[in-house]
Amino acid sequence: QLKGKTALITGAGSGIGRAIAEVFAREGARVILNDLSPAAGAVAEAVGGAFVQADLSDQQAVYDLAQRALELGPIDILVNNAGLQRIHPVEEFPEETWNRMLQVLLTAPFQLIKYTLPSMKQRRWGRIINIASLHGLVASPFKSAYIAAKHGLLGLTKTVALEVGEYGITCNAICPAYVRTPLVESQIADQARTLGIPESEVVGQVMLAPAAIKRLIEPAEVAEYALFLASDRASAITGSAQVMDLGWTAR
Ligand code: NAD
Repeated sequence: QLKGKTALITGAGSGIGRAIAEVFAREGARVILNDLSPAAGAVAEAVGGAFVQADLSDQQAVYDLAQRALELGPIDILVNNAGLQRIHPVEEFPEETWNRMLQVLLTAPFQLIKYTLPSMKQRRWGRIINIASLHGLVASPFKSAYIAAKHGLLGLTKTVALEVGEYGITCNAICPAYVRTPLVESQIADQARTLGIPESEVVGQVMLAPAAIKRLIEPAEVAEYALFLASDRASAITGSAQVMDLGWTAR
């Protein structure tokens, strides 16, 4: 479905980003994987893609990443996926952590959109897919930087969609609830320790208490949704927050 397209995917060394790289490569796209971790080079090799190591918490590094990626070919599909979580009560949230998280989760997506849009416009086709979160729509305590950034990412998604609609470019966000990735697996272990209950109970009773379906989402489920948004079949969908939340926000 993606033959002849080139996709740049950030944070593609693990979890959701890795699954998206695998699915897009399977569908014939040329994939450029970015990650902070050099270990992601092996993932790129496994899917037959290129690897550009870059730390998105550094604005200059984001600029350099875009230049490197554009040298490899015009970018048709941009997936802003890289992310991290830090948990502190707001009055104890370190300013430095706040700044780093806002840079990685919100400013880097803005920068990559800014730098790759001209080549999409020129070709009159493009797909921007921002991996937001259910926490782009609702809040939970102690995640102020993450939730502020993800809410902001939805605002960016809508604004960009309005600006580029006439060029055959769509810009959408996916808002998943908890996905089975290393990011979440470490939270499960932490919560089990803190609450003194087995890990098996953390998922159903604590993490997914507000959800209708009490299971984790698999990274491949998010990747297949991203594939749909990247395809021509989704050309009428833009400026949207695609909710994949196990019924969490239905409450
Ligand atoms: P993950 O930790 O498995 O993967 C994130 C990847 O991003 C890692 O490979 C990491 O090295 C990379 N990364 C982190 N900081 C970076 C930086 N400064 N520069 C470059 N790369 C960096 O996490 P995941 O769960 O796959 O998360 C991917 C995205 O999905 C994130 O934006 C996250 O907020 C979002 N998300 C995750 C869940 C979930 O439950 N796992 C739910 C909703 C949204």
